[in-house]
Amino acid sequence: MKTALVTGASRGIGRAIALEFKEKGYSVIGTATSETGAAELNDIGIKGYVLDLNSHESIDSFWQKLEDNNQNISLLVNNAGITRDNIVLRMSDEEWSDIMNVHLYGTFQLCKRSLKMMLKSKWGRIINISSASASIGNRGQSNYAAAKAGVEAFTKSLAKEVGKRDITINAVAPGFITTDMTENNDGVNEDYLIKEIPLGRFGEPAEVANLVTFLCSEEASYITGQTIHINGGLYM
Ligand code: NAP
Repeated sequence: MKTALVTGASRGIGRAIALEFKEKGYSVIGTATSETGAAELNDIGIKGYVLDLNSHESIDSFWQKLEDNNQNISLLVNNAGITRDNIVLRMSDEEWSDIMNVHLYGTFQLCKRSLKMMLKSKWGRIINISSASASIGNRGQSNYAAAKAGVEAFTKSLAKEVGKRDITINAVAPGFITTDMTENNDGVNEDYLIKEIPLGRFGEPAEVANLVTFLCSEEASYITGQTIHINGGLYM
């Protein structure tokens, strides 16, 4: 049975992806930032681990635990994410670096470590969760949009490096999805946002999960280096 690792599986899109993998018969490892979150994942049949992508020590100790438990990762979804919104003139160095660490450095670290396992197995699938913000920009999200654009460029480069080994790597860029992250839109009216979406609603985490698991399937074996948008038409 192949093992899928989903970061940020305790809530929102990551939780839906982890559950969808489980439904499809994979062994699933999910991460949360707290012991409580990891324990809750165990309760729903997902092997829960603690991981804080803003800490190199946490990444090291998480990976050590995976190796101690003889886990072999075949599928990786770099989903964990945060926002630290502010306009550039007021943005602190910490708001900038937290975003770069969690999204970009975290993605680099987990791809590099998982790839060593995938290269041995001569098969692998990696999905990096980006955002429509990378393509259209967003006021107050220069840090987040820059990190996500970096994730997309990283994805293309890595796809070129490992394609010959039957390892595909793609990015999925959601628009507005109903999760805790979009709960607080910093005073932006939800009705206003919905008017900008041709399908007239926010997306659901399960809709993103369907796309991610499709890209990890054999049916998607000739798709690599792409950014697939899922946004109800917000960005075309
Ligand atoms: P969410 O509901 O806020 O969940 C975030 C997840 O990331 C949680 O599992 C959280 O763990 C984990 N996490 C937070 N900080 C972390 C850290 N420092 N290290 C490791 N894990 C951490 O977010 P979401 O809306 O599902 O977003 C998932 C992904 O989709 C993110 O990459 C986000 O940028 C992207 N995205 C979301 C939307 C949207 O509209 N929701 C749109 C475009 C892109 P805890 O539960 O322990 O805090």
